[in-house]
This record gives sequence, C-alpha cells and structure tokens, in this order.
Amino acid sequence: MIKGTKIYSIITFKCPCCHEGDFFISHPYNFKFTGDIYENCTVCGKKYMLEPGFYQGAMYVSYGLGVLLFVSIWASCNLFFTSIGAWSQIGIFSFLIIFLSPLLFSLSKIIYANIFMKFDANAKSNYIKSKI
Ligand SMILES: [Zn+2]
Repeated sequence: MIKGTKIYSIITFKCPCCHEGDFFISHPYNFKFTGDIYENCTVCGKKYMLEPGFYQGAMYVSYGLGVLLFVSIWASCNLFFTSIGAWSQIGIFSFLIIFLSPLLFSLSKIIYANIFMKFDANAKSNYIKSKI
C-alpha cells in the first residue's frame, strides 16, 4: 500500500494528514471505544474534529457502505450461488450487517475524514518545528 494515498489512510486507520498517527483510540471491535477518535493527531497535531458535529456526515458514508454490502451479497448470490433463496440472502445480509457494524462505523468515519482532509508530507516536520 502506497503511503500518501487516501486508501492507505483508510485501510490502516491512520491520520488523513500525516498517515502516521493513529486516528482511532482503539480497535473497532473494542466496544467500549468503538468509533472514538483522538482530539488531535499524536504525530502531526492535526485537529480531527473540524467543527462541532463534523462526523454526523459520516452517516451518509455508512449508508453507502451498507448499500454496497447488500448489493454485493445480492449480486454474488444471483450470479454464483443461485440456489440461495431471497430469505436466505436477507438472513446473510442481516448477519453480516450486525457483525460488521463496528467496522463499517469506523470505516465511514475515516472515509469521511479523508474527504475533507488532505495528505501533507511535511505535516509532521512542520508540527515539530512549531513546538520548538
Ligand atoms: Zn497526523
């Protein structure tokens, strides 16, 4: 995975700005802290909460991920597993959407953050210089 791309930040759950600091406080399946993010990046100091309620927009990304999951299950069942009925498809989707919901919640937040924050290769060194 190439550092400096948005995909890198999304898959590794790293800071959208420097791609080094952690974005989330813990793993998505640590239910006590699911989706909780740091206030600032620990490496470059980037403020993650751009404005109050910023991550409410992530629900649209979460909706898109849910639709993508449903369409991919529906398409794969109708193309490759034709013996699976509609109710079984709904059951598979329901099981997966419940099991994957912490991951989709976290993914939607970091995807949303990556829409509005750009990678800056000098973010870390600028932050260190500002501290001195
Ligand atoms: Zn950072």
